[in-house]
Amino acid sequence: MPILRNPCYAARVFLFIIAAANFFNSQKYNCMSTLLTVGSVAFDAIETPFGKIDKIVGGAATYASLSASYFTKPINIVSVVGDDFPADMIAEFNKRGINTEGLQIKQGEKSFFWSGKYHADMNTRDTLDTQLNVLLNFDPIIPEGMATCEFLLLGNLLPQVQMTVLERMAKRPKLVVMDTMNFWIDTQYDALMKMIPLTDVLSINDEEARLLSKEYSLRKAAKIIMAMGPKTLIIKKGEHGALLFNGNNVFFAPALPLEEVFDPTGAGDTFAGGFIGYLAKTGDISFDNMKRAIIFGSAMASFCVEKFGPERLLSLTDKEITARVNDFYDLVEFDLIDALNI
Ligand code: AMP
Repeated sequence: MPILRNPCYAARVFLFIIAAANFFNSQKYNCMSTLLTVGSVAFDAIETPFGKIDKIVGGAATYASLSASYFTKPINIVSVVGDDFPADMIAEFNKRGINTEGLQIKQGEKSFFWSGKYHADMNTRDTLDTQLNVLLNFDPIIPEGMATCEFLLLGNLLPQVQMTVLERMAKRPKLVVMDTMNFWIDTQYDALMKMIPLTDVLSINDEEARLLSKEYSLRKAAKIIMAMGPKTLIIKKGEHGALLFNGNNVFFAPALPLEEVFDPTGAGDTFAGGFIGYLAKTGDISFDNMKRAIIFGSAMASFCVEKFGPERLLSLTDKEITARVNDFYDLVEFDLIDALNI
């Protein structure tokens, strides 16, 4: 029992419980900087080794906003759906402090639809179908109150739309985090190359980093991608954690080895939502705080994969989140001084 053997450990657990209780409630952290999330709000069809669902609410902005809503409020969404999108999901967003004034509902049109099938390792997947529908001619109109948001998450979306959003902001946000995926790297490379230099933090997975940089080594890929413009780069490695690069600094966040992963869909967006939500809550965009933010983002992603679709993100408590962050800490903590004294 480490808590009895090691008084330092006991002290840390005690301090952690106090700090965790304070984190979500105390005024110290309640900078509550305004956050705008842009991305798809969609329907997904998902097949994993554990089951199949033909139609479930998904989309990058759905996962990211739900995740961020545990840290800061209000979350503002700019996106578009068709009249087939369920009104009760929009009501659920609103209940959680997600402002949907910027969510356009196109009468007579269909919402974006994506379908994917996961391989047995649950780390890789094939996209079976992408129907852009309402996203094809999406003109992102930013309601007046949202154009001054300090934190902007440009979630997975057409790079031209991401660019338009940035141009329409009343002033440059304090932090712009951008996500993209292989679909846009393959089909919209030139537009993407214009958008990437305008972001502060680019968040992509290892496969996308290799595709974008044409380099296998992630260390070399990171250098190439940061030379395109973003000062900070996050490379997500699924069940193998995430790397945070900034200049010559590198930080690694593990992924929690979970006994059961049901559906990894949205894990990347949930990660991004937790990351920027934490930064918006604390108001601190230093590299050191980004290290904490990627742990919180990873903790949120670890919940997301426990159930199909965004379901798990609808039932979390602050207590569960802080306990999971503690699990991350325990996973990698070791006493370096003791190790060297042996
Ligand atoms: P992730 O698993 O984090 O990569 O995100 C999966 C989510 O991204 C799904 O809910 C999809 O609806 C959404 N998605 C998939 N492809 C695209 C795309 N090309 N553009 C925007 N969103 C997408």
